Amino acid sequence: MVILKFGGSSLADIEEIRRVTSIIESQLGRNPVVVVSALGDITNVLEHLADLSLEHSEKFVINELNDFFEPRLYRIISGVVSKNAEQQQCLSDVNRIMQELKNVYRGLTVVKELTPRAMDTLLSYGEKISQTVITHALRSMNIAGVEIPAQKCVITDANFGRADVLWDQTSRSVEEHVVPAIEQNQVPVLQGFVGGTSDGTVTTLGRGGSDYTAAVLGSILGAEDIQIWTDVDGFLNADPGLVDEATTIEKLNIEEAKELANFGARVLHPRTVLPAIERDIPVYIRNTFAPEKQGTVLSGDKTGAGIHCLTAVRDLVRIELSGTAQSREQFADLINSAGWSQIYLTMQSPNAMTAIVDPGEPRLIDRFCEELSDEIECRTETEIGIIGIVGESLTTNSEEYRNLIGILEKFEYDFFPYSPNSNRWLLAVKDFNLSEIFSTLFHEIFNANSGKTSE
Ligand code: ASP
Ligand code: MG
Repeated sequence: MVILKFGGSSLADIEEIRRVTSIIESQLGRNPVVVVSALGDITNVLEHLADLSLEHSEKFVINELNDFFEPRLYRIISGVVSKNAEQQQCLSDVNRIMQELKNVYRGLTVVKELTPRAMDTLLSYGEKISQTVITHALRSMNIAGVEIPAQKCVITDANFGRADVLWDQTSRSVEEHVVPAIEQNQVPVLQGFVGGTSDGTVTTLGRGGSDYTAAVLGSILGAEDIQIWTDVDGFLNADPGLVDEATTIEKLNIEEAKELANFGARVLHPRTVLPAIERDIPVYIRNTFAPEKQGTVLSGDKTGAGIHCLTAVRDLVRIELSGTAQSREQFADLINSAGWSQIYLTMQSPNAMTAIVDPGEPRLIDRFCEELSDEIECRTETEIGIIGIVGESLTTNSEEYRNLIGILEKFEYDFFPYSPNSNRWLLAVKDFNLSEIFSTLFHEIFNANSGKTSE
């Protein structure tokens, strides 16, 4: 049994959906369970229409909705559901779903209040439509697709917008709803991202939550593997915006993947697939648009000492707080409570603390400094970048370390050699220098020593 999860960009239009159904078809021998995201960026559209509902009339919102959905859905359905009877059935199911969705928006235009609970119900329609379209597309190819409602399988608490999965109940529901379908050689199709409380209220797992659905189902069902089908080849050994020769990493350890995600890689949030990795189920990241490629496989396995990849973030700010009467805790509290998008690094020295943060909004920096008490001095420097050097057994007594210091000799940088699992080194640099340092490191590390360092 395998889990095949398809993201929104893999379901954006007719051509894409045909690719998806043929990927499913090619793996029928492995008993696939399919998890789908909403088609394209429909979740964003649903969110936008919710905002409009708070300010506009019912007529306006329903018109906007019709304009966006109707032509698109009819075109897609007639393009991907080939058999006539199946197409009629799909159209009538989707019409019913759209009527329900319109009723939810109508309610919103009246009450003008959007609770997290109502938001979850609204957003869940994206995956609902997608599930229906994919199932009928499969059936019109004579593949026994069945829709299984995720809200009855993925049981969660009532923390709307970011619900937590209740594992015991979910295991029982999956056993009840999904396993019989697999046993009958059907292809279960479930909505990603969507869950339900034990009393049947729809919840969501947080934006981008479909990967988590795949990991939850894969863990419970003991899948051989989980395949996350997306629009890139997998994790690359360097930021392709900075070097042309970046190549796909075939095997990546989950701890290294977390470091890459923390420091710039946008492929997937490794945390979302942790439940599967913890059960020794490998997670493949594959490209719907290049299915012949193997992609990256994430697992708990070590892949060998050395540097495996480089990553970068820019547009950060370095903040230095100093003041003799202050404690470490006080500095840390100030940094932590400032509302930065992300804190990348903090360093403590006597009576001072330095942090490198992503301010999110630039004006947050000035406000932060202005609001400090007079006893604290605040110095900031903008346009700071961080280069992450990710691998295994990265210690300061390794040959890689000596080599690295040699390569960096002519540059200005701050080096942060320690990470909890010896999986990364960090360099803080000035933004204007980042791309030169990055590309020098890349070429020296991967080309000069390619036999030794590449996976
Ligand atoms: N459709 C949802 C989102 O866009 C969930 C997902 O795609 O994972 O956030
Ligand atoms: Mg999506």
